[in-house]
Amino acid sequence: MKIAELHKLFLQSNNVSTDTRKIEKECMFFALKGDNFNGNTFAAQALENGAKYVVIDQEKFVINNQTILVEDTLQTLQELATYHRNYLKVKIIALTGSNGKTTTKELINATLSQKYKTVATVGNLNNHIGVPLTLLSMSSNTEIGIVEMGANHLHEIEFLCQITQPDFGYITNFGKAHLEGFGSTEGVIKGKTELYNYLTANNKFIFFNADDPIQLEKLNTYTNTYGFSETNNNFYKIELVEANPFVKLKAENTSIASNLIGAYNFTNVCAAISIGKHFDVPLEKIKIGIENYTPKNNRSQIITIKNNKVILDAYNANPTSMLAAITNFSNLKEENKIVILGDMFELGKEAEKEHNNIAALLLDLKIEHAYLVGENFFKTETVSHTISKYKTFEDFKNSFTKPNDATLLVKGSRGMALERVLDSL
Ligand code: ATP
Ligand code: MG
Repeated sequence: MKIAELHKLFLQSNNVSTDTRKIEKECMFFALKGDNFNGNTFAAQALENGAKYVVIDQEKFVINNQTILVEDTLQTLQELATYHRNYLKVKIIALTGSNGKTTTKELINATLSQKYKTVATVGNLNNHIGVPLTLLSMSSNTEIGIVEMGANHLHEIEFLCQITQPDFGYITNFGKAHLEGFGSTEGVIKGKTELYNYLTANNKFIFFNADDPIQLEKLNTYTNTYGFSETNNNFYKIELVEANPFVKLKAENTSIASNLIGAYNFTNVCAAISIGKHFDVPLEKIKIGIENYTPKNNRSQIITIKNNKVILDAYNANPTSMLAAITNFSNLKEENKIVILGDMFELGKEAEKEHNNIAALLLDLKIEHAYLVGENFFKTETVSHTISKYKTFEDFKNSFTKPNDATLLVKGSRGMALERVLDSL
């Protein structure tokens, strides 16, 4: 079937689904394959659950004229998304970077939705499947789409750009994340700048952080740019007033008080403000959007349990975001501070060094009590009576005594699921 024909059927359907457990009536079901499942085997189930069409790529699962047989379901999903994107003529802002993509995406959406009909990536659906699904969730009413793009290897952003064809783009930062796949920090920079390269090559528009030396250095290789800065008057100037506990800032004499903690969130908010400005959202409206946004899903959330205050940052972790979170925490004025950290994943051969660096940082910053959890942290060389190390979460849990009137920082990679600490408080 031609993509144009498939698109007609898609328009008659109620969105797209790839999971029979979450099927909407009259949807178009795409049978994708994963490591442990073959979506084709769920085609009949999808129809039973109310799908209008099922797109499959194995002939033996053809059921009736609601079944659409294609060569490769994933590729078809991506092609349909690109077709739909061109059909809509929506303006799209793409975001990538090592840290802060989801937070920045939510903040941009919070500001732009004050004036426009927007659709943004739901949660963290930022890969070769999530990006097409995001595009397909846009309709002819959508004025601006905000698409999060994640990558852990070179050329992935380039590929996602080909599908998305963004008109605007922003890179949050370049950090030590996914070193395993990118090989080195240079690899990360190369991989992320694929977004800016796409935009420049296609005469599209770049937003950039002029306080980031890497972005600033590359500036003259890009055209159509708009940057913000805390210190440099040549760019849209936003002043950091306060970072603890919440980021407060000032733009054009308007004070904006966010619900985000730590200096590392300053640039995320700045990006949202300056992108809002670029799209002519009045500053008073931008302020409302930012001030109404509170982080969710274990991303720098502040939670009070009994008389303990927890900065729950257990959504993910890598050396850059660990450094940012710990430094920020050490600047808090509170007494009785406790740090609980879980292993950082996907660091490849850098794992040992990076975990040692973090343990050393805790000593440097004179953090009173630190608990390090996970196989990598367990192996670190740093020895101190202020630092306890545990190989597994269970070991930690068994020896952890409930604190009283403490402030805790809880951070680790997603696989560590450190939000489990909350049950021990
Ligand atoms: P993922 O790669 O999982 O999609 P992400 O880039 O979307 O992550 P967020 O989910 O927004 O990132 O934030 C995750 C964590 O990264 C935050 O809780 C915080 O610890 C850290 N972080 C956010 N912004 C920055 C930043 N600008 N610099 C450093 N660390 C940051
Ligand atoms: Mg994300």
